[in-house]
Amino acid sequence: MRKLFEYCNDKTYDLYLKRVMVIYQRQNQPFTNSTVIYAYLSVVIHYIFVSRDKDEQVLESVMKLLGASYEEGDKQAPFWAILNREAEEYADDLLLVNGTRLEKVVTNEDIDECFDFLEWSVGQEPDEEKRYLELGEIAVNKIQFFKDGRKRLEMRRRETGGVREEDPGFIKKCQRFLQEYTPDRIKAYLDRYVIGQDAAKISISAAVYNHYQRILHPEEDLVKSNIILIGPTGCGKTELIRRIEELVNVPVVISDFSGIVATPWKGRNKEEALLNLYLKAGKRIETAEHGIVFFDEFDKMIPVRNNGMGMDINQELQGQMLGMMEGTTIDVPYMNGSGNDTVIRMNTKDILFICAGAFEGLEKIVRKDMQKEGSLGFHSNLLDRAGIEVSEDNIKVKHLMEYGMKPELAGRLGAISVLHGLDKEMMKKVLTEPEDSIIARYQREFDYENHIRLEFTEEAIDVIVDKVSKLSIGARGLNAVIHEILEDALFEVPDMDGIRQVTITGAAAALEEAPEYTIER
Ligand code: ADP
Repeated sequence: MRKLFEYCNDKTYDLYLKRVMVIYQRQNQPFTNSTVIYAYLSVVIHYIFVSRDKDEQVLESVMKLLGASYEEGDKQAPFWAILNREAEEYADDLLLVNGTRLEKVVTNEDIDECFDFLEWSVGQEPDEEKRYLELGEIAVNKIQFFKDGRKRLEMRRRETGGVREEDPGFIKKCQRFLQEYTPDRIKAYLDRYVIGQDAAKISISAAVYNHYQRILHPEEDLVKSNIILIGPTGCGKTELIRRIEELVNVPVVISDFSGIVATPWKGRNKEEALLNLYLKAGKRIETAEHGIVFFDEFDKMIPVRNNGMGMDINQELQGQMLGMMEGTTIDVPYMNGSGNDTVIRMNTKDILFICAGAFEGLEKIVRKDMQKEGSLGFHSNLLDRAGIEVSEDNIKVKHLMEYGMKPELAGRLGAISVLHGLDKEMMKKVLTEPEDSIIARYQREFDYENHIRLEFTEEAIDVIVDKVSKLSIGARGLNAVIHEILEDALFEVPDMDGIRQVTITGAAAALEEAPEYTIER
């Protein structure tokens, strides 16, 4: 330990950091423990946030971190002494650098940055074998760290009271994104995680690309194209946006429209999404003004037709939404850190809005219209009985208007995309194919804790898909159904010796038998 600490006073900090990693890995192995790496990164990031004002200072900041110490009672310990503790065990406000308290101000981006730094640092290792081993360890920790949602840290930055704070790195970040991503590449990224829904993927990819172009070339006055996604529950609408959120480096807010009303004092209000954008942007208004807002359950704001009272309120809300989407200045109520009410003035003209909903009953309007136009020909009765799906080929703005959307608003949602309900074949793919699929996540969990393989037989997959299809909530039911099947195994297995594999058979999936355990003696 002493030897390690002496490195701090030396100038070879990055070497030091790498050695800390290697030694901890090889001897005590705590770096394979996600809690410890969480603690470690938190400390690094705490310091970075407080000390840096430019992105470029990452390396320097990590180096400076080596001077940080942790104070408890009247004992002081160097930061690395907390490495062996559980993350929750130390109090943040006792963490000091040169006597100054470190704030709890960590963002997921900061964590990414730190992982990048660690990878870079290990990447300098000349011995190829060692390097790959260490990079592998970091990758495992990274996956583990991000897998656990609870450990994703919330942003809390110093109060600005709504003052415009420039983010000098923002434009550079956007440029970096565009150097790497074309609409095709954005779609390729979505393909890794979302099955099917090509039309929606294409329109989202184009809109996100266009969004960045607008940020970087404001002088060109490119047209903003908000999107509306129409598709039944559990077909991947929110999943697409979650993946976009992961990919982009502008703030993204996912907000659900149910309960949002025109008059703020009566319930949740539409400004809530803007406030969240502002907080996600680290209270930098300009960054927030270039974010992406996803309104889920957007159809909830459309009046139930022939419902006198509700109609007016919803019409008013639609009018307000229209303003927001077209671009207007909105005063967002905000309670600052000292408990005072204040407002943040935000302009929404450069925010990309993606709205989504099931729009139940829309197919009837489309069908009626097609029949009227005679495009279904003499097969119309047949098709009518079989049911006709809304698709990008037949949906038109006028249908949304007939559904109850104000004409101006319907016209403002440039691209209409239709997502299709998942059939059993697609549901099977959802289970097994995407990177980070539900099954892959459980397999990782079994493997990570106890090095146990988790297998599902073909029959088991069929049983699961059959069960979920009956629920009529699309792929939304998959997780709950699988969790129920694995619940006992998750509980029992850690205490059993010599287990190598857990196999979910058809009968186990149907909850008629226990899963098969393969035991090695
Ligand atoms: P909704 O369309 O109602 O917004 P979600 O996108 O939230 O549904 O889907 C629910 C869950 O089902 C997601 O977390 C995801 O795991 C899975 N899922 C749904 N559709 C797909 C799809 N097309 N590809 C991959 N996973 C999907």
